[in-house]
Amino acid sequence: TKWVYRFGDGAAEGGAADVALLGGKGANLAEMASLGLPVPPGMTITTEACLFFFSKGKALPDDLQAQVLSALVDMEKITGRTFGQGPHPLLLSVRSGARASMPGMMDTVLNLGLNDQTVQALGHDSGDARFAWDSYRRFIQMYGDVVMGLDHEVFEEVLEDEKARLGHDYDTELSAVEWQHVVSLYKQVIEEELGEAFPQDCHLQLWNTIKAVFSSWTNTRAVTYRTLHKIPHDWGTAVNVQAMVFGNLGSTSATGVAFTRNPSTGENSLYGEFLVNAQGEDVVAGIRTPQSLTEEGRLASGSEKPSMEKLMPEAFAEFRDICNRLEAHYGDMQDVEFTVERGKLWMLQTRSGKRTTRAAMKIAVDLVDEGVITREQAICRIDPPSLDQLLHPTIDPRVERVVLGSGLPASPGAASGEIVFTAEDAVDAEAEGRKVVLVRIETSPEDIHGMHAAEAILTTRGGMTSHAAVVARGMGIPCVVGAGGLRVDLRNELLIGPGFTLKKGEMITVDGSSGQLLKGDVPMIQPALSGDFGRLMAWADETRRMTVRTNADTPQDARAARSYGAEGIGLCRTEHMFFEGGRIHVMREMILAEDEAGRRAALDKLLPMQRSDFTELFTIMSGLPVTIRLLDPPLHEFLPKSAEEIIEVAAAMDMEPALLSRRVEALHEFNPMLGHRGCRLAISYPEIAEMQARAIFEAAAAAASETGAPVELEIMVPLVGLRSELDYVKACIDKVAADVSRETGLDIGYLAGTMIELPRAALRAHVIAETAEFFSFGTNDLTQTTFGISRDDAASFIPTYQRKGIIEQDPFISLDFDGVGELIGLAAERGRKTRPDLKLGICGEHGGDPASIRFCEQMGLDYVSCSPFRVPIARLAAAQAAI
Ligand code: ADP
Ligand code: MG
Ligand code: MG
Repeated sequence: TKWVYRFGDGAAEGGAADVALLGGKGANLAEMASLGLPVPPGMTITTEACLFFFSKGKALPDDLQAQVLSALVDMEKITGRTFGQGPHPLLLSVRSGARASMPGMMDTVLNLGLNDQTVQALGHDSGDARFAWDSYRRFIQMYGDVVMGLDHEVFEEVLEDEKARLGHDYDTELSAVEWQHVVSLYKQVIEEELGEAFPQDCHLQLWNTIKAVFSSWTNTRAVTYRTLHKIPHDWGTAVNVQAMVFGNLGSTSATGVAFTRNPSTGENSLYGEFLVNAQGEDVVAGIRTPQSLTEEGRLASGSEKPSMEKLMPEAFAEFRDICNRLEAHYGDMQDVEFTVERGKLWMLQTRSGKRTTRAAMKIAVDLVDEGVITREQAICRIDPPSLDQLLHPTIDPRVERVVLGSGLPASPGAASGEIVFTAEDAVDAEAEGRKVVLVRIETSPEDIHGMHAAEAILTTRGGMTSHAAVVARGMGIPCVVGAGGLRVDLRNELLIGPGFTLKKGEMITVDGSSGQLLKGDVPMIQPALSGDFGRLMAWADETRRMTVRTNADTPQDARAARSYGAEGIGLCRTEHMFFEGGRIHVMREMILAEDEAGRRAALDKLLPMQRSDFTELFTIMSGLPVTIRLLDPPLHEFLPKSAEEIIEVAAAMDMEPALLSRRVEALHEFNPMLGHRGCRLAISYPEIAEMQARAIFEAAAAAASETGAPVELEIMVPLVGLRSELDYVKACIDKVAADVSRETGLDIGYLAGTMIELPRAALRAHVIAETAEFFSFGTNDLTQTTFGISRDDAASFIPTYQRKGIIEQDPFISLDFDGVGELIGLAAERGRKTRPDLKLGICGEHGGDPASIRFCEQMGLDYVSCSPFRVPIARLAAAQAAI
């Protein structure tokens, strides 16, 4: 097997395409070498060797040694130096480098090949004994840490003591003799602590270091990082063995790092730092304050220390030139490492640089303008969920955070406000113009108006798909849920946490992006949707095939969604309208009525309210499709629950509390999710569906005559499992349509369709499509009913499932392609067989999830619908899915 790939002297055996085999660092070192850039020669030992190493109980392949030695001979030829002996000793850097960048997570050893003999040779050869002994002590320190497992602080203590004894403040002040003494102290510490000597055999040093770097793939730091960033654990790391170049050879030497553009703003100007007379790790370690690369950077930072541009004009000019070449070659902003050895520039690393979303946007758009990349490439450069950073206010990164507690980051953005504990208090505060954070143990549909009124929501119970989380995301309100370390004392109106108690009215800040709860009113940065955002989104819109609609229940939602580019409403949940203001009373009247006549009387009062809501929605969405879903939740959700509430409501309704209590009990269900809801309500109480249909049609007529543009009306029947259910409800809708059109003299066009949210409906899609004119996949319920997992209870065991590797993703967050997805594919195919022009969309939470959107594109759906704040994310994700 070929385990070793060489690079250097204008040529390389691998290249940028070999990232999987050579790791990012190795692949790009090879690429830079092939481009003829000044790269110290070296070799990359493949990730396959690493996988071999782990599969054989940490043994290196037999044929590896010969390949490494042969590549080493090449390096000796190119550099004119010899590994392990004088008079011109070759020193090596041994660097980790995985497929995905894992900055600082794995190990690197520099200056390998020094021992008590070669250090003397290096001193003579360079004419700088101080440099030689400084390099030797660095090597012992890194080798002692990485290979021998001695904490680097042990060495730092020795050095600090020695500096104190000598009266030095900085490492740079130590002389050759003094460093030589530090070396002997280091060797002594190793013997004392480990009972073995620092190895003098350079080849042994090399093999041990290669093994240690491979092993660093599974150190705790690296494993945690991979888990957090979803990097597979079975990729392994490559090892790069490279000739050392020295930035610590006096005042004409230096080392530094740079971004080819500003990673925070995206501005097209070289941005970086360097240190004179230093080795690479000094820049990161923060031992000395680095200097700016450019004069511009120096002026901006107000530093007195000269820039590299000023100090080393020739090396700088070459460096700037190389940065430009690298950008043009890779078509992206690069993050590079370099070293100047006695005036000669060497490139040590390049990779695509990490950047803020704002910078990513600007860089992508600028690169298109510069003719470096295509619009499609620019679209693919932005991670859709990162757009959230641009749409919500965020906490000013410069302020210090006083963290009171934390929970799950359920809905992004940050907001501050006074603590309130009830929805009523939130509404009252809003009316008085005060900003509040609604703090609850958990929320329920009755809290909706309070949630609307609040700036942010905090709950101490519940998961990412709890009521509070779903509703807050829908509204675009920052939300943290399940802050288990905190306790809500409702009776005394207190929020209690470890070491603090907050009263109603005290200021707190909720950071829904990090899940933190902060003390006080924290300064924010407001979102600014720059021109770059607009241009990139316009390209995305030209590119995608699916349309993007929004889930909107209120005119506020609808307006916000349109401003984010929604092309219609994919789901309007009418029940949310019944919680507003005084409507809940009328709704309760209807539910509690003894007979149909009583219900109709209450429904007559609800009719004008619904009509005016719909008229407003249709006017906002003029000319665009709007899908209205008939009443879905079980009726008891609208009724009071606790004994106190029952007494209160009974009084307001002029009713016996006992009677009310009995009605509430009668409507109680053991499993409401699978109970008397959806189309089952319309079948039991057709007068409710009739009222809703009338409100919808009359509103459509009114809006059409007002705006001159008809709405594309779609009426959706929820929770259908049988075609006969849909037939029954559709007949009722059709009859009302005929009535309204006779009364108004207007012909109102509409489609009647259903949500596919029960497995039976998916399986019988070809039959249901004989009646249904569109399907909307309600993937929240479809996931619940396919898995048989109630989403309100999922939080109690899904995290355990994930930890134990039973499932990878929470199916309520990322669509289960294998199971739920198969049902969707099957329903789409069967439905279209019956009715080729059947409209297909998705309206669950998944409609805003990029991976699920890609799946919808593959299934050939016509649109996705998501909450207003996710509309830009969905537009971008749909474009990427279409490329
Ligand atoms: P990381 O991935 O953590 O940045 P690197 O392998 O890039 O680790 O190396 C760590 C430091 O050592 C960097 O600052 C780098 O510039 C420096 N370095 C690596 N190889 C060499 C070399 N051949 N000559 C001089 N310095 C080097
Ligand atoms: Mg590096
Ligand atoms: Mg549903």
